[in-house]
Amino acid sequence: MIFDIITIFPGLFENVFNDSILGSAQKSGLINVQIRHFRDFGEGRHKTVDDSPFGGGPGMVLKPGPLVSCIREIRKDGPIGPVIGLSPQGIPLRQTVVEELSRFDRLVLVCGRYEGFDERILPEFDLEISIGDYVLTGGEFAAMILVDSISRMIPGVVGKIDSVEQDSFFGGLLDYPHYTRPYEWENQRVPQVLMEGNHEKIRKWRRGKAILRTAIRRPDIFAKTSTSQIDRDLFQSVLGED
Ligand code: SAM
Repeated sequence: MIFDIITIFPGLFENVFNDSILGSAQKSGLINVQIRHFRDFGEGRHKTVDDSPFGGGPGMVLKPGPLVSCIREIRKDGPIGPVIGLSPQGIPLRQTVVEELSRFDRLVLVCGRYEGFDERILPEFDLEISIGDYVLTGGEFAAMILVDSISRMIPGVVGKIDSVEQDSFFGGLLDYPHYTRPYEWENQRVPQVLMEGNHEKIRKWRRGKAILRTAIRRPDIFAKTSTSQIDRDLFQSVLGED
């Protein structure tokens, strides 16, 4: 998967994708992150990319020319997959969106700054994505989140695909609780079922816990999850534990 990230602050991406899982994914060629500095397409001697808003008001607005020229330069490479504008007004990023996007070979992520994009840039986007109902200083942090969440869906990036499939949201529920050594820590013990080695019992306990914590922490998601009679029994069996 190739990610082209269009930004006026390329320095923000230095080292972000060089370590850990994404670092290995880059080294093995599973992902390739290309940072595009769209000030290179800026206007005049100062390579200007922004200007004050027509109609007055605070802040600066990203001019259409430089940004669109940068996108069109990338389009010359051939099919590039969706061009995504990062915006608090975009569709909310969810695991289902992440999974859809991970099926493309290439994505172009466009980072806004200041008051955002001149409205005439928007036709150049295939979609706009928001990472949440709050406002960031720029799209760079949103782009990092997209690269990270999408990359871990690409086969081979995370060593064990099971760990991706058991994560929160993947199957519609939150993840079950995890424990490691020591068995007892500050008077808290690991649940007995995890110590007994009965894999079927452990699987059922984990499923019950995942259902329970989804119901408690995210009733909005739980309301949309279809649960079977078996699920309801597992839910009952872990109720009142802890
Ligand atoms: N005036 C814009 C508005 O209220 O919709 C906000 C502009 S924001 C200060 C500057 C840039 O940060 C945006 O153009 C966008 O690229 C990025 N950004 C801010 N919040 C975001 C979010 N929740 N999701 C994705 N990108 C965001």
